[in-house]
Amino acid sequence: MASEPLRIFPSGPAPRELPDYLPARMVNEFVYCPRLFFYEWVDGVFRESSDTLEGSAQHARVDKPGKGLAKASELAEDEKVHSRSVMLSSEQYRVIAKMDLIEVEGGTVTPVDYKHGKPLEGIDELKVWPADRAQLAVQAIVLRENGYTCDEGVLYYQGTKQRVRVPITEETITETVTAIRAAWALAERGPIPPPLFGSPKCGGCSLAPICLPDEVNRLLEAEPDERQMALFVLDSGEAPKKPAAREMRQLLTPRDDLKPAYIDTQGLRVGRSGGVLQVKDKDKTVHEIRLTEINQLNVMGNIQVTTQAIQSLLEEGIPVCYFSQGGWFYGITTGMVTKNVFLRQKQFALAAQPWFCRKLAGRLVAGKIRNQRTLLLRNHIEPPVRVVAEMKAMAERAERCESVQELLGLEGNGARLYFGQFQGMLKVEQEDGDGLPGDGGFRFDFQGRNRRPPRDPVNALLSLAYSMLAKDLQIACYAVGFDPMMGFYHQPRFGRPSLALDLMEPFRPLIADSAVLNAINTRMVSAGDFVAVGDSVMLTPGGRKAFYRAYELRMDGLVTHPIFEYRVSYRRLLEIQARLLAKMLEGEIGEYPVFVTR
Ligand code: SF4
Repeated sequence: MASEPLRIFPSGPAPRELPDYLPARMVNEFVYCPRLFFYEWVDGVFRESSDTLEGSAQHARVDKPGKGLAKASELAEDEKVHSRSVMLSSEQYRVIAKMDLIEVEGGTVTPVDYKHGKPLEGIDELKVWPADRAQLAVQAIVLRENGYTCDEGVLYYQGTKQRVRVPITEETITETVTAIRAAWALAERGPIPPPLFGSPKCGGCSLAPICLPDEVNRLLEAEPDERQMALFVLDSGEAPKKPAAREMRQLLTPRDDLKPAYIDTQGLRVGRSGGVLQVKDKDKTVHEIRLTEINQLNVMGNIQVTTQAIQSLLEEGIPVCYFSQGGWFYGITTGMVTKNVFLRQKQFALAAQPWFCRKLAGRLVAGKIRNQRTLLLRNHIEPPVRVVAEMKAMAERAERCESVQELLGLEGNGARLYFGQFQGMLKVEQEDGDGLPGDGGFRFDFQGRNRRPPRDPVNALLSLAYSMLAKDLQIACYAVGFDPMMGFYHQPRFGRPSLALDLMEPFRPLIADSAVLNAINTRMVSAGDFVAVGDSVMLTPGGRKAFYRAYELRMDGLVTHPIFEYRVSYRRLLEIQARLLAKMLEGEIGEYPVFVTR
């Protein structure tokens, strides 16, 4: 029986304060893509790409202060001046423009706008992009309202070093005023517009990893309407045809080039010199790490990080994660990454709705049981038919569960069945740990899950893996704008990252358990990598380092997404899933597609 839908209907944006004026640059964004405009101006989301960085560098060169622009009434007929970085506004349309350059000659003014790309190539003439023309027209509007005569503007494309003159006709002004009014209406009333269909613009859009245009269209099973089809034809220059709504492009690279850094040796000190982290043992530099090469710094135990290093890490958007020496996750230091307060408003509002929590929790637990079952089928020497069948039935029941209490019972029973068979996935059996000198006398002999403290090597590895995964999901929560402490299945508890733990459920077997199995079965970690401390079993420093490698190998491994059909690393996947949850909470997509591997 199919489970009930979990639909949140989109509402307009939560009441929010907008700035007094709409910048000309945002009119450009609106004409380019209304969704991009909404993200940037209404939600305050921004992400650098090579294009935005290049654009900023080029603007920095032209933004040098120059001679100020005289008042319109004071311009002399024979005056010929160039004024740079001039800011003017229009009260009538509530727009503001910072103009790169104004050329004044013969009593008229010509705004010159610098663009880092190239013009649109027409058949007989150079054309400008509609979004660039709208931005220039906003500049003409503010100049005219301030009393200047402005009949044309210039777009200077730095990519090809070409100046394109743009006459400011009545038609251009009307078109631009319509865009300004539509942009204000959208910002004030929302909701966020749907993604473009198959548009080539998405390939060059810095927000594609946040917007997930093709993913959202696929989940909505949407068909483009007439306006979207017209836009597709305009943007792609292709003959009118229906863009394939279900065509999937991979706009994200499968893996992040940046890697997490782990500092594990006790007593080390991390400082900073320029763009490099220097890891020192007393006064001797033992390791150097470029800030441009890492995406997180993991501090394992008693390691000091200087204020200068933390400031630079936060400036670069690199979180610092703190663990105990034994792998207990204490928390994260991040920069100002949680700008999207409106998402957190929705998160808190829905976390207070028992029906919603129950349904989402049911899907998460079902996903976890299904992934545990798949892991058994893939790795167990001989998975018992009864167990596999029971787990399948449990996953189906979890989706239909009517109470969280019942769900907790199902999850516990599923875990007992799964961990009852875990030993069958360990392929080294008793070859290790036969009491040979230096092997610590341990065996990879798993009798069931135990923790706080773990009392055997497999449990020590599982606890460390879950700690690392919880940390990575907290980072994903922060990247999206969630509060990782407020969950839907895991109830709020002091210091517990409940939402990170919710998102983690389906990934426990796929990432953490799988990394543990791989570390043991490929002998990356052996019985000699453990020590007994009282009742607990801990990894040695060498064993921990080996396991970090096993974990990162798993996170870097590519997996085929069952809905989107492209291959991505598990690390990328965690952020994609967190973004899809945000889109579901905001009512953009109907269901949260829990990741279930085939
Ligand atoms: S990825 Fe495409 S649809 Fe999404 S904001 Fe960018 S241009 Fe618009």
